[in-house]
Amino acid sequence: MKIICIGRNYSLHAKELGNEIPKEPIFFLKPDSALLLKNKTFFIPDFSNDVHHELELVIRINRLGKHIPAEFAPRYYSEVSLGIDFTARDLQQECKEKGLPWEKAKAFDGSAPLAEWRKLEALGGFENLEYKLLVNGKERQSGKPSEMLFHVNDLIAHVSKYMTLKIGDLIYTGTPAGVSRVVEGDQLEAFLNGEKLIDMRVK
Ligand code: ZN
Repeated sequence: MKIICIGRNYSLHAKELGNEIPKEPIFFLKPDSALLLKNKTFFIPDFSNDVHHELELVIRINRLGKHIPAEFAPRYYSEVSLGIDFTARDLQQECKEKGLPWEKAKAFDGSAPLAEWRKLEALGGFENLEYKLLVNGKERQSGKPSEMLFHVNDLIAHVSKYMTLKIGDLIYTGTPAGVSRVVEGDQLEAFLNGEKLIDMRVK
């Protein structure tokens, strides 16, 4: 199983980090050891002083495919969830400046909390989704698929040009604007179409 994460998929988020709007999707991988399930506590790693939350819509691939055309991509996922792409922004900045890969900043243990799955059909389809993140009760991020630069079908088409997608692979579809540092004691709550799926503490 691999975790595919999309970078800069919302223009406001690309801007808030001073990045250009990408002309094609940007993706990177996290290992399965990054997963953090069942709302377990997230422990800030000691190698970073600036870990950011990135709320993301996540889909799970449900059939094997390569070179998937965007128009057939809806056949490859039927469930959706919320995840957080925890990012050590200080390390990422260092990697970006040196032109190095981002793994240190993005792929560490526990960097990919993932909530329970919900059937897309029961939520009225992909276009009908809306999601938000509250930190200590205050709304920090919110988004909907229409704000994505690249629709999930285009993400599947793009990524599957380069690597085979397998059953159980996850795609974290990028974060809306509003990312910020988490500190010990923070409580993160995230909602998908009004239902609370993430309720976790930071230590
Ligand atoms: Zn992200």
